[in-house]
Amino acid sequence: MAGITIAGLSTVYPNGVRAVDALDLDILDGELFALLGPSGCGKTTLLRTIAGLEGASAGDVSIGSRVVTRLPPGDRRVAMVFQDYALFPHMTVAENIAYPLRVRGVAKPVQQETAVRTAGGLSLGALLDRRPGQLSGGQQQRAALARAVAASAEVLLLDEPLSNLDARLRLEARTFLKKLQRELELTTVFVTHDQAEALALADRIAVMDAGRIRQLGTPREVFQRP
Ligand code: ADP
Ligand code: ADP
Repeated sequence: MAGITIAGLSTVYPNGVRAVDALDLDILDGELFALLGPSGCGKTTLLRTIAGLEGASAGDVSIGSRVVTRLPPGDRRVAMVFQDYALFPHMTVAENIAYPLRVRGVAKPVQQETAVRTAGGLSLGALLDRRPGQLSGGQQQRAALARAVAASAEVLLLDEPLSNLDARLRLEARTFLKKLQRELELTTVFVTHDQAEALALADRIAVMDAGRIRQLGTPREVFQRP
């Protein structure tokens, strides 16, 4: 059970930019939630603060019943997938997927078994021995998701995960992401500046502006309001 509760959260960069400004938000357990808004409104900073990659200047982030505001990223049970997938180029797909388990000292056979099972579920079974440079954009994206899933996080944070894909792959990836999220029932927050993407994917949407939430609701509520 891991919803995300954000209470009075501010993230101020050392140069004084208040990228997240006294923000309150409840993301429900198992929800596929979109953060939408123009470039520079604070979406990525909010995601990074939930992940612990940026420190909160004020307020709290809770995941499930645990306040994680002062925990390091590795103790938050979150997995973050970036725009550029951030796969390790020198490792195979299998090694990439198993990496979070290796870091945690999980036994090698369990690492391998998890990599094979997760890759199979994401139609990557035939590509386990390839390196990221030998994969298409969509395959790289799936491998990055597989790595996040194999890490058995409670919360999946996606920063414009589909933006580097061409239009056809993006549609395919949307369908896939939605199916995966439903199967895993993983609380998922994804950042996008694309209204159509938020509309197609999200259970609920928060529209951000200048570090705050301007609108919050289901796609229907957000887009059909007069
Ligand atoms: P978005 O993801 O919506 O494009 P960001 O969270 O990247 O927005 O940025 C929010 C604001 O914080 C912007 O004004 C941006 O210039 C600023 N910002 C982002 N990263 C940094 C940083 N590392 N140092 C200083 N300011 C930053
Ligand atoms: P995005 O909009 O996708 O978040 P950007 O191109 O705005 O990406 O930012 C790329 C990188 O530059 C990020 O690591 C971000 O933290 C950093 N950055 C963005 N704005 C600033 C800023 N005003 N000062 C310092 N670093 C920044």
